[in-house]
Amino acid sequence: MSKGPARLRCQTLIFDFNHTKLDEIQQWAENKGMEWFSLQTMRFGNNKLMPQDKTLINTQERYKEEFSHNNPIEINPKCLKSCVVTADGYFMPCDWIRNPLTFYKSELYLEKKKWIDRLKISDITLDDAFGILEEWMENVKQKGRAGQAEVLCKMKCRAC
Ligand code: SF4
Repeated sequence: MSKGPARLRCQTLIFDFNHTKLDEIQQWAENKGMEWFSLQTMRFGNNKLMPQDKTLINTQERYKEEFSHNNPIEINPKCLKSCVVTADGYFMPCDWIRNPLTFYKSELYLEKKKWIDRLKISDITLDDAFGILEEWMENVKQKGRAGQAEVLCKMKCRAC
């Protein structure tokens, strides 16, 4: 695939178990013809995976108590950069919302006909998928202003 016209980009999230091996991972990816980059996160799922070195953590993404309140908040959705295709064939706005711990509580699933049922990649074109994503992002912004945004959208994509 790396010899074809497609450009491959490989992303490594930084955990405690891999932060000393990033050079090695970069070399592996580049040897396979991929552009490589690493990304800090706050979503570890298990605190033992969190780097001891706090400069390697994206603290901007940390959960805050205020996110559980229904206060209006400005959200700049990063869905266009974060969208993913799942192993079971759905186009999703981001990896966070795809996670089963959040997906089944999200509007994407709770309003299936409006969202996830229209995002099965076997039934749509890429243009269709991006059209639905545009609708979703507008919906996220409006929900933010109405104090109804998903908690994870407040964590990942709030404007400030
Ligand atoms: S957290 Fe919400 S707004 Fe941000 S990329 Fe994911 S779905 Fe889009």
